[in-house]
Amino acid sequence: MPAGENSVAVWYRRDLRTADHAALRMAAATGRPVLPVFVLGDEESGGAARWWLHHSLQALRDELAALELPLVLLRGNAPEILPEWADRHGIDSIHCHRSYEPPAVQRDDETAAALRTRGLQLHYHEGALITGPESLRTGQGGPYQVFTPYSKAFTDRVVIEPPATVPAAVRAAADPGDGLPLAALDLLPRTDWAAGLRGLWRPGSEGAATNLQRFLADAVNRYDADRNRPHRDGTSRLSPHLHFGEISPRQVWHASKATRSAGPFLRQIIWREFAHHLLHYFPHTVDRPLRPAFDAFPWDGDPNLFSAWQQGETGYPLVDAGMRQLWHTGWMHNRVRMVVASFLVKHLLLPWQTGADWFADTLVDSDLANNTFGWQWTAGCGADAAPYFRIFNPTLQGRKFDPEGEYVRRWVPELAKLPKRWIHEPAAASPMDLAGAGIVLGRDYPHPIVEHRTARERALESYRRMQAG
Ligand SMILES: Cc1cc2nc3c(=O)[nH]c(=O)nc-3n(C[C@H](O)[C@H](O)[C@H](O)COP(=O)(O)OP(=O)(O)OC[C@H]3O[C@@H](n4cnc5c(N)ncnc54)[C@H](O)[C@@H]3O)c2cc1C
Repeated sequence: MPAGENSVAVWYRRDLRTADHAALRMAAATGRPVLPVFVLGDEESGGAARWWLHHSLQALRDELAALELPLVLLRGNAPEILPEWADRHGIDSIHCHRSYEPPAVQRDDETAAALRTRGLQLHYHEGALITGPESLRTGQGGPYQVFTPYSKAFTDRVVIEPPATVPAAVRAAADPGDGLPLAALDLLPRTDWAAGLRGLWRPGSEGAATNLQRFLADAVNRYDADRNRPHRDGTSRLSPHLHFGEISPRQVWHASKATRSAGPFLRQIIWREFAHHLLHYFPHTVDRPLRPAFDAFPWDGDPNLFSAWQQGETGYPLVDAGMRQLWHTGWMHNRVRMVVASFLVKHLLLPWQTGADWFADTLVDSDLANNTFGWQWTAGCGADAAPYFRIFNPTLQGRKFDPEGEYVRRWVPELAKLPKRWIHEPAAASPMDLAGAGIVLGRDYPHPIVEHRTARERALESYRRMQAG
């Protein structure tokens, strides 16, 4: 670089793409050499998400290489290592997208402060959401806590600009410096349990675009009917791609809105915005209920039953199918997420936080805003939550949403030969039907670990105790 010319860095985080990337665009617009950098801290702790991140970084490296930009990989605490790295490489400003998860916000604040002491600037842009959480407030100036008015305000007031393209010309820094090889980030599992993930997913922007195109080519037209049918390929499967920012919500919005029947799908994108809005205004909700009364909820389930839930051995086929789908693919259908979460917190009376932690460890789309929101919604303790007394009956949910039992047969193969009548309630099948399907209950498939009616009564009684204080 010419003597005296400083470079500009793009600090990549959960925005692993090059298109519609304000930070990259702004850095390129300076006309100065650009250095993209990714710093692995301890924020990505779930095994499935780490597997995803490895492959997503690989894909981003290839995307950036097409712009002749090398991606520098670092490992450590960003507030400590980024300022020092920036100084060494003659960088005087860093562009990034705003984070919303409380630990990431703290990391960013500390990094910005550390950079300032060296006279360096951290510039934030919007990239994870369509609109910043502060842009929508109620008439009283506070945050929304109910989805319908939030969604109305979003629809009425947010102007969604078309997504930006990849910058045409970006100058690369002459000396990319001393980054680590990808393998040194140690993101892949030591023992390879990721075959199921490899079979289903293609991390990176190309994989995201493929899923979006596949969805818009057909499934979007049936979304409203199919999105509750777990055995159908009826949803977009964009969640991990959106979480890692391989595609922006604005790209998804604009590509979809041209489709006449996209309304119900776009509504889900607004739910995502709403979950982030809530996390921004109520950061304590990552481990405490939004509704304070629930702080005193008398959880008194048997912790030994947690592993039966984790392993999909509860004796309730829809719950077990969901938990096994999660373990094998790092993803679970939304309808089934609601059923398994409800089962944990209401049938087993185990705290929603334990379930949220297991999801965080096993989901490829593990996302603090959406996960917290989903668990608190199910447990009845969050914003706009399901009323506590609505306790899903997993057998009836199975009959309603998987009427032929296809989802269960796929993920709980030991039940595959059961007649449709018993597929969601093997414990009620006659000995002859069980024998015909080659099943001995308690040997090939568990007896239900709790009885639905008893569990329901116990949950309602716990709720009454909480209300009575
Ligand atoms: C207990 C529980 C935990 C959850 N944990 C997560 C999580 O960690 N990460 C995550 O991304 N989603 C989570 N969800 C929401 C939802 O289940 C997933 O976003 C959805 O199943 C992803 O599949 P899809 O991309 O095919 O969704 P689609 O139906 O195609 O929806 C498109 C996008 O909209 C967003 N979206 C859809 N539903 C919701 C919702 N209810 N809340 C917020 N955003 C939504 C997602 O970004 C999704 O990719 C959770 C839901 C529950 C009930």
